[in-house]
Amino acid sequence: MLSAFRYRLYPKTDQEKRLNRSLILLCGLYNDLKAEEMRRYRKDHKSTPKTMFRTFALNARKHDERLRDIHSQVVQNVGDRIHRSFRNFFEGRARFPKWKKPNRYNSLTFTQFGFRLNPEKGLLLFGLGYVRIFVHRPLLGRVKQLTIKHEADDKWCAIFITERDEPTGRPLTEIPITKIRGADMGLSSFVTFDDSTSAEYPEFLRRSEGKIARLQRHFMRKHKGSRRRRELGRRLARLHLHVGHQREDFQNKLVHRIFSENDVLVLEKLHISGMLRNHLLAKSISDASWNSFAKKASFKAKSMGKHLIFVDSWGTTQLCHNCLGWVPKALGERKHRCLSCGIDVPRDENSALLIKRLGILRSPTPDRGPSPAEQRPLPSLREVVSQRREAGSLPTQG
Ligand SMILES: [Zn+2]
Repeated sequence: MLSAFRYRLYPKTDQEKRLNRSLILLCGLYNDLKAEEMRRYRKDHKSTPKTMFRTFALNARKHDERLRDIHSQVVQNVGDRIHRSFRNFFEGRARFPKWKKPNRYNSLTFTQFGFRLNPEKGLLLFGLGYVRIFVHRPLLGRVKQLTIKHEADDKWCAIFITERDEPTGRPLTEIPITKIRGADMGLSSFVTFDDSTSAEYPEFLRRSEGKIARLQRHFMRKHKGSRRRRELGRRLARLHLHVGHQREDFQNKLVHRIFSENDVLVLEKLHISGMLRNHLLAKSISDASWNSFAKKASFKAKSMGKHLIFVDSWGTTQLCHNCLGWVPKALGERKHRCLSCGIDVPRDENSALLIKRLGILRSPTPDRGPSPAEQRPLPSLREVVSQRREAGSLPTQG
């Protein structure tokens, strides 16, 4: 599995100058390659393969001596980047690649060579010498790639991508039900678990979000191209970065806690693609949160040898976790009160319990014996309900 390790870098003034100059040069190269690709496409109606982009980039380095101060693989990586932008566009995942502005082009990537991490001296970078780096946690695995990034708050960081072996954890069949946690992602609280605990975004995060909204309104009122607007834009970018870090930190700690205490996490799968935007702002923010949370959970499960199970979200808000009766609720209703079995629990907890119930179907416990569940579609309440109806224990709706 691939993991990212991110460390703060502290370049000296002259090193910073050289890094900034490299970024400007690479940005120019990116735009040159884009222009070249547009010209070629107009002529031949064919997209250019990655190797050819790399060759173009290396040729540019041959003819421009300023680019020769930059490691050849870093230059070649610009070819990879422009190729990826066009491929994403042609395959419908992204919009047409933009012209990059120098202040937006803020990272450069070494693939194998041109850098070395020395615990005493720092990070050795091609053409720069040793740069001071703060390695706050050990770098694990085989390094595949290094990206040097200039953040919106003017800090520099080094991001190592490494390859690690996945630990083998307990097989699903040997995990007791008490170590399985069902989780419902909600609008009112971030996540609610089946054991009636929940996790909220901390107060400071909601405060920062309010601040962003306020600043955004000021920003929109300023004239385009004005000095005030530019300044506010920079402040907004810094704040967005800060909130992003806060959110990441909160979710990372939460995921870590879940998998330290449990072996299995069950989540419902959302059936929306990243490109689809919801017109309800709160909903679209929570969908985005769900996506990043699910990604982190999936990564953490792999790295800790735990399990993440997705289930179908159909019916998880309306059915009763106890008797599977249909208990319709409006969006604003926070309670789940079942008339047929008398259960009375908070709405989100009922959903979490249903989600866990589905997850258990997917992960057979020893007494039920192993089943070839791996290849089946997502476990769904549809199946459960229709099986019940066939068995005659649920009245069919007339
Ligand atoms: Zn019930």
